[in-house]
Amino acid sequence: MAPTLRFDTHEVFNQSPPYENVDLFLSDAPLKDAVRANGAAGEAASLSAFGRQWGAAEMFALGRQANENLPKLHAFDAEGNRCDTVEYHPAYHRFMGESIAAGLHASTWSAAGKHAAPPAEVARAARFYMAAQVETGHLCPVTMTRAALAALSAEPALAEKILPKVLTRSYDPAFRPFWEKSGITLGMGMTEKQGGTDVRANSTTATPAGDSYSITGHKWFLSAPMSDAFLVLAQAPGGLTCFLMPRFRPDGSVNGLRFQRLKDKLGDRANASSEVEFTDAFAWRVGAEGAGVRNILQMVQLTRLDCAIASAGLMRMALTQAVHHCRHRSVFQKRLYQQPMMRAVLADMALDLEGAVALVMRLCRALDGAAGDAREAAYARLMTPAVKYRVCKLAPAFVYEAMECLGGNGYVEESILPRLYRQAPVNAIWEGSGNVMCLDVLRALERDQEAADLFGALAREASENLAGDAAASFFAATSEAAARALVGRLALLASAAALKSSAPPAIAEAFIRSRLVQPHGALYGADDIDAATAETLLQRVLPEIWRRGARRTGIADSENL
Ligand SMILES: Cc1cc2nc3c(=O)[nH]c(=O)nc-3n(C[C@H](O)[C@H](O)[C@H](O)COP(=O)(O)OP(=O)(O)OC[C@H]3O[C@@H](n4cnc5c(N)ncnc54)[C@H](O)[C@@H]3O)c2cc1C
Repeated sequence: MAPTLRFDTHEVFNQSPPYENVDLFLSDAPLKDAVRANGAAGEAASLSAFGRQWGAAEMFALGRQANENLPKLHAFDAEGNRCDTVEYHPAYHRFMGESIAAGLHASTWSAAGKHAAPPAEVARAARFYMAAQVETGHLCPVTMTRAALAALSAEPALAEKILPKVLTRSYDPAFRPFWEKSGITLGMGMTEKQGGTDVRANSTTATPAGDSYSITGHKWFLSAPMSDAFLVLAQAPGGLTCFLMPRFRPDGSVNGLRFQRLKDKLGDRANASSEVEFTDAFAWRVGAEGAGVRNILQMVQLTRLDCAIASAGLMRMALTQAVHHCRHRSVFQKRLYQQPMMRAVLADMALDLEGAVALVMRLCRALDGAAGDAREAAYARLMTPAVKYRVCKLAPAFVYEAMECLGGNGYVEESILPRLYRQAPVNAIWEGSGNVMCLDVLRALERDQEAADLFGALAREASENLAGDAAASFFAATSEAAARALVGRLALLASAAALKSSAPPAIAEAFIRSRLVQPHGALYGADDIDAATAETLLQRVLPEIWRRGARRTGIADSENL
């Protein structure tokens, strides 16, 4: 007779099965609609293949491993020689390999270093959004690599050396000079101890040395320290200048980057962020001396966009976990999903996510169209900081609310929610924090006539949605102190416009009514979303057919979705 196990006293029931083996694209109606509305309908099959790959149970397990096994700095070897290398868990390398193979780091660039043809931005954003749902830390070097190419265009001869190595779609983690590698990644260093926002206060110096420069100083944040080269800002004789600093000097010796320590961060654990000293580090100039801020801005526009896409991805994963759990969990003899107040909370969150997805994809279309359409270029300039401001700021409170939907399970590390929660604030903080984004919008309105014209057109559109005084006062305040209110409303209006062209009319109407006409409550679930719209919103988060398909096959049934 088999011995009775001591703890084998009960059957586990009324718990939700793991949310995995899903197609992250086909199960996501707001994403599918936004992709279609913004010109990338032809990518659907390949996005679904990506969605299935990244939605596999294995990828979720790797995401956990990459964040549980922190990168390790090896500043010295056993004999006391400098090493300055960082060791990552194999799961991190796997994510880097998959993202780079899929072109998340470069698919928006042509071989000539120009923007790839539309809908390159929208298609890549859809993939980036899905990847962010599974593991976000590794996307830091991925986004920096694709964005750095924008700044390198100021120095065509240098870009010619670097670009082919980035475009290979091959991830090569070896610590070797970039010219010997099959593929490379790029990082950036702007933030110093005395200033991150105010980069003009940078104290790092650049001394001309023939065709190159010798850089001495420090950076207080330098993420992804195993990147093959970094864009850095330093004070040259002609003023603040942008440089490209490789890990190896042209003679093959290790360059003068000395990593002091890795940051002990709230989240973003799979990704290493270092503090670094530069000791006579070799670097090439990128653009003219004194033009550093102008050059680096080319880059940050793209990283800011990616912050917003990644935040929307975190929100998406949090909400699908919540809806999935509530569909399985019963409380007081009823599924949580059927409890009126829970439905109100979930539907209200779904509405914010609908607005965020429609908005980021609309912004990507503007970038796709910017080269040939001045209005789209103005949209991208004006809206990038506004979108980063709204979407990145939504994410932390949103993820927290989703966590609460899972009750105690949501607070426990085995669920993905704690990781999403820790990750959520960083996108708002880095690459220009909230206030800085609002100042950028004010600056664009002041100095950029096309952006100001676009703003005027949006304000006129506001009067279609809002009555009399509300419309007149909607964009009234443009003072610095009131900038958050202004930029928040601008982003809401742009979300509503984006929803009108991508989502079912009832959703755009609910968004306008509960976010524009009435101010949205500080907490989710306080808006009176009608039952039919709530049902539409919840089915769009995760169709119930998925659950049926999952029961049958263990994987979302793509034919049915
Ligand atoms: C995980 C992580 C990774 C990072 N990786 C990198 C990296 O790889 N490379 C890099 O260069 N940097 C990196 N950073 C640094 C990041 O970009 C900066 O922290 C950020 O830009 C803010 O700069 P700061 O920390 O110096 O804060 P400050 O510039 O001191 O700003 C503090 C606060 O003041 C606000 N503020 C600033 N100016 C104004 C104003 N005029 N009016 C009102 N409010 C204002 C800001 O919005 C912010 O909220 C990273 C940061 C984190 C958290």
